[in-house]
Amino acid sequence: LLILGIETSCDETAAAITKNGREIIANVVASQIESHKRFGGVVPEIASRHHVEQITIVIEAALKQANVTMSEIDAIAVTEGPGLVGALLIGVNAAKALAFAHQKPLVPVHHIAGHIYANRLVTELQFPLLALVVSGGHTELVYMKEHGHFEVIGETRDDAAGEAYDKVARVLNMPYPGGPHIDRLAHEGSPVIDLPRPWLEGSYDFSFSGLKSAVINTVHNAEQRGEAIAPEDLAASFQASVVDVLVKKTVDAVAEYGVKQVLVAGGVAANKGLRSALEEAFSGLDVELVIPPLSFCTDNAAMIAAAGSVMFEKGVRADLSLNAIPGLEIEIFN
Ligand code: ATP
Ligand code: MG
Ligand code: FE
Repeated sequence: LLILGIETSCDETAAAITKNGREIIANVVASQIESHKRFGGVVPEIASRHHVEQITIVIEAALKQANVTMSEIDAIAVTEGPGLVGALLIGVNAAKALAFAHQKPLVPVHHIAGHIYANRLVTELQFPLLALVVSGGHTELVYMKEHGHFEVIGETRDDAAGEAYDKVARVLNMPYPGGPHIDRLAHEGSPVIDLPRPWLEGSYDFSFSGLKSAVINTVHNAEQRGEAIAPEDLAASFQASVVDVLVKKTVDAVAEYGVKQVLVAGGVAANKGLRSALEEAFSGLDVELVIPPLSFCTDNAAMIAAAGSVMFEKGVRADLSLNAIPGLEIEIFN
């Protein structure tokens, strides 16, 4: 079963082909980070223009890498949302054009389902499972009792974890996207600065905007008093707070839901501090912890093909009226 996956929800134009949903035979990602860097974040209009320029090139490169033609592809999976509408539309329209021209089934994929299914490129999923989704726009604990079933048991009430990383990085004058820079700096410092840990007792929800403000205030107060503050200690303290909350809530949810596997998904899953803290927390527990390699954590199309493959087998189809849905919800019970 060959699935062509297409992803254009934000600032990566990506196409990939998977075989039987688990084996990658092509994976092409054209990143636009360099174009957005000087604006300190993703500029939607620039993103759309790059997607238009890159989409055909990226799809052709994927077919060439896999050494297959469109006639051998069984279905086309595409991210329908959530994301930037103008960015999503480029992928959706490319997928529809290919589906029409080659008479192939079209499978709509939720971007976060894609991040979760990146784990299936590493190992077979075992249900029930819990996915910790930590990305640029989402922080969620998702319970899955079977393929295609997504139940959000907790989510952020304000900023996403990646968003908090990027905003804190800006305050520390680091380039976009700030997550990897903070991560690197954190390992050079110590978590000696006292920052809040938003527990939101009794719920699996998250909140990172208060923590972000506390970091900003710490920097401003030090500036006003003319005191020096070690950026590596601030980075380490911020990271310690984020990681503590993410790990504790995940461990608690795993105990309550009695799952067999814990998956980690999204760009912040690339965080070294989070990865090692999760490994330590789950080392003594009877649950399998799965964390994808770094390149599958951030946006790519292999994850869309992986999720699309499962959805295709479940009979999920879209027709040529498929539209991009910027605020698409993941919650599906079936
Ligand atoms: P979403 O998936 O929610 O739509 P997105 O696609 O923009 O958002 P991803 O590509 O999953 O997000 O992840 C990008 C985010 O991951 C950025 O906020 C980036 O700073 C963060 N990130 C990447 N690497 C690291 C790291 N090592 N430590 C912390 N954050 C990181
Ligand atoms: Mg991105
Ligand atoms: Fe993403």
